[in-house]
Amino acid sequence: MEEKLKKLETSARQRNIPIMLPDGIAYLCNYIKENNVKSILEIGSAVGYSAIKMAMISPDIKITTIEKDKERYQEALENIKRFNLLNRITIINDDAINTNITDTFDLIFIDASKGHNIDFFNKYSNNLKENGTIITDNLSFHGLVEDESLAVTRNQRGLVKKIKLFISFLDNNKEFTTTYIPVGDKISISKRSN
Ligand code: SAH
Ligand code: MG
Repeated sequence: MEEKLKKLETSARQRNIPIMLPDGIAYLCNYIKENNVKSILEIGSAVGYSAIKMAMISPDIKITTIEKDKERYQEALENIKRFNLLNRITIINDDAINTNITDTFDLIFIDASKGHNIDFFNKYSNNLKENGTIITDNLSFHGLVEDESLAVTRNQRGLVKKIKLFISFLDNNKEFTTTYIPVGDKISISKRSN
């Protein structure tokens, strides 16, 4: 199983599919263990790597994951089948901006289009259990957020602007308290304020 997962990881990285960086996914998995997380909603499945990795932590973990790209969705679905995880991972082929999810979750993991983090956060906080956590990936955008001079294209500058807006949205959010962890491409951990 572990070796099969390693192969999936290597294949995804070789094809430049932006799966989580090793220390980022390690941190996330550790968080799931330590906080006894059992239900997860993931926005952005890519080829299913992070969902499979999280599901393998424990047989009582259940995951719903949303992927808008048809080909990636199909590949993720094949991978989930190959790992015999169809009973615990539900994958939805949709733009998460429009998906209607009614369940509630211990953890919501946002790892999709960087420009839509505020929308995802606002929409899916309705699906978060009272003591749940929202974790968002890619707050550094490979260092471009910290050093904007590295953002050379118009598209990059636009995304840096949106990530900065998301960070100030989190900093000013009264309902949630957020901490930032410099692992992987930097993640935020948001919990309801006491
Ligand atoms: N979590 C994965 C990596 C996800 S990469 C892992 O670590 O293994 C980000 C993915 O989000 C891409 O595959 C992209 O197609 C998808 N995505 C981007 N915007 C989306 C949206 N609005 N709704 C659903 N998926 C989206
Ligand atoms: Mg990411």
